[in-house]
Amino acid sequence: MSRKVIVLGETRDSSLRNVSFEAVAAAKTVAEGGEVVGVVFGEAVAEAGKELIHYGADRVIVVENEQLKQYSSDGYTQALMAVIDQENPEGIILGHTSLGKDLAPRVAGKLGSGLISDAIAVEEAGGNIVFTRPIYSGKAFEKRIVTEGIVFATIRPNNIDPLEHDASRSGDVQSLSVDIKDLRTVIKEVLRKATEGVDLSEAKVIVAGGRGVKSAEGFEPLKELADVLGGAVGASRGACDADYCDYALQIGQTGKVVTPDLYIACGISGAIQHLAGMSNSKVIVAINKDPEANIFKVADYGIVGDLFEVVPLLTEEIKAL
Ligand code: FAD
Repeated sequence: MSRKVIVLGETRDSSLRNVSFEAVAAAKTVAEGGEVVGVVFGEAVAEAGKELIHYGADRVIVVENEQLKQYSSDGYTQALMAVIDQENPEGIILGHTSLGKDLAPRVAGKLGSGLISDAIAVEEAGGNIVFTRPIYSGKAFEKRIVTEGIVFATIRPNNIDPLEHDASRSGDVQSLSVDIKDLRTVIKEVLRKATEGVDLSEAKVIVAGGRGVKSAEGFEPLKELADVLGGAVGASRGACDADYCDYALQIGQTGKVVTPDLYIACGISGAIQHLAGMSNSKVIVAINKDPEANIFKVADYGIVGDLFEVVPLLTEEIKAL
């Protein structure tokens, strides 16, 4: 059954985040040959809209409005509902990001629709569109199909491969005017914390430190390793609670959920709450001086040793490649 599927392209400083292209790929599967319509909100985002077409969307709707420059639950809900009213889609795909986690349930509630959240795979099987999602903190996976109504899902970043970028692909970019009103909260200014390097949630390589790193300075060798690998630095809650680093770096059940190609856990014991945030990483390397540490149970490669010796050695070796 072919469907019309809309995909929200998520912008940051008017550029699209990678998860938007992954969402287009997921939408293509859900559409089963039907139309994929990209949607972008913000100010001066028409160029970003075209990128969705280059990654496979058939056409794009942009809602340009000063009130949509920053995400707000009310503003984005109004804008997305206006697009849905116009398009009557049979499918909606968003990234399972902070934005998607807030927006998707609101819109599903307004539509009286179900929602499959945090999908890590989508495929056509036996005449159904089947979504796979982790449950019990990543210890098991469930498969879900939608039996009636809109196929509405959010997808976890870094799990679904985007289609090849093709700048020769063309499609309509339509502008839709939406009167955004009665906002209950208005963002006046965004003060960004000076974060270094790559965005943790989209990083392909993460070097994470735990309580074994012992101090804020102890994170320096991890930063150097992350730099040579073009990756980001993350942390366990143990390290955040001990004030070695900011909570923005926390990975786990109550932190960020990440699925990089390579996760290097340094001085992290592997508590279940930490594993919930990283156990789906493609390759896991654990460095821990305790050979019995739980982290080794999920690791593809384990190094039993002192991280302050092992990490600088790894950095030197990788630099020399
Ligand atoms: P520890 O458990 O103390 O482990 C430190 C490790 O470092 C040890 O294995 C030790 O052998 C090793 N080590 C020490 N020195 C060295 C060295 N020089 N070289 C190599 N290895 C060394 N935790 C999270 O991470 N994320 C979450 O989101 C999260 N959410 C939680 C939610 C709830 C409701 C609860 C109750 C807990 C949560 N936790 C979370 C906390 C979790 O249970 C653990 O306490 C925490 O993950 C432990 O952090 P850690 O592994 O850094 O520290």
